[in-house]
Amino acid sequence: MTEVLSPLTVDDAIALLVEHDEAMPLAGGATLIAMRNASLVEPSHLVSLDRIAELRGIDRTADGTIRIGAMTRHCDTAACAELTGSLHVLRRAAGMIANRVVRNMGTMGGAVANADPAADYLPALACCDATLEIAGPEGRRSLSIHDYVDDWYETALGEGEIITAIMLPAPVEAPSAYRKIARVSGDYATASCAMALDPDGQGLRVAIGACGPGPLRDRAGEDALRGKLHDPAALAEFAGRLVALADPVDDVRGSAEYRLRLIPRLVASVLSELAPQKETA
Ligand SMILES: Cc1cc2nc3c(=O)[nH]c(=O)nc-3n(C[C@H](O)[C@H](O)[C@H](O)COP(=O)(O)OP(=O)(O)OC[C@H]3O[C@@H](n4cnc5c(N)ncnc54)[C@H](O)[C@@H]3O)c2cc1C
Repeated sequence: MTEVLSPLTVDDAIALLVEHDEAMPLAGGATLIAMRNASLVEPSHLVSLDRIAELRGIDRTADGTIRIGAMTRHCDTAACAELTGSLHVLRRAAGMIANRVVRNMGTMGGAVANADPAADYLPALACCDATLEIAGPEGRRSLSIHDYVDDWYETALGEGEIITAIMLPAPVEAPSAYRKIARVSGDYATASCAMALDPDGQGLRVAIGACGPGPLRDRAGEDALRGKLHDPAALAEFAGRLVALADPVDDVRGSAEYRLRLIPRLVASVLSELAPQKETA
């Protein structure tokens, strides 16, 4: 029998995870309970994060940074009016997760901890240059989202550590968007693309999902594309660099070859949404 423990503070949650070798944090349970019911994991204890006030809510700090508590449900992120401009991409990603039931259950901390390569938040967070706030037996630390995924389903989270919050730079007035190709509406992505334009409209940030263990970003390629967003050759070269960085697998959602073909199409289609080319007379 798995025992459920319900601490009231982050420190108590960590103490329980350290005390019980086979304990696991429990957030929304959308993934963990299904895995446990299928005997894919067999935790001795589930340390519920549900009663820890520090993990709740979306707040704007004095310098404009947005703090999303790890226990924030996908439905609340999808409805969050603070996620404007350059951060709208995250709102869009949240609204495309699965279906209403999963969006009401699942949390951002749980989804990020689970680090499914085909899930929607990681590319959106990579596009926003998010930082994870992490607490563990050795204390608290911050980690760039770009240093988070180590390998397929492997992350930089250590034993007894939990994600407490996701920090986003203050939003700027510039459009951003998220798009995923999926077999049916609500499925995990076969491939996805998160994109934000620079405020002057000359450059962009792009993260590709479901084409490798973690989201793909090519910052040197983004720099090279600056000022040439509507130059077909420059855009093709940029998409080609992303394809070269990708390391997709064949699975039920699509072949690796198909995923590689989707990358340039996704980049072009999201860019045309954010920066439509002006008609020339
Ligand atoms: C039917 C179905 C369809 C789905 N479709 C999609 C989809 O289209 N796109 C998508 O992105 N996702 C999808 N998901 C995943 C969904 O977003 C889950 O909510 C998410 O993966 C897990 O969030 P959770 O809060 O329920 O975490 P849980 O299920 O409670 O936990 C998941 C894992 O994370 C660990 N964990 C939880 N919280 C923390 C924390 N704060 N710190 C450290 N570790 C933690 C747990 O120990 C566990 O290992 C789907 C899930 C289901 C069940």
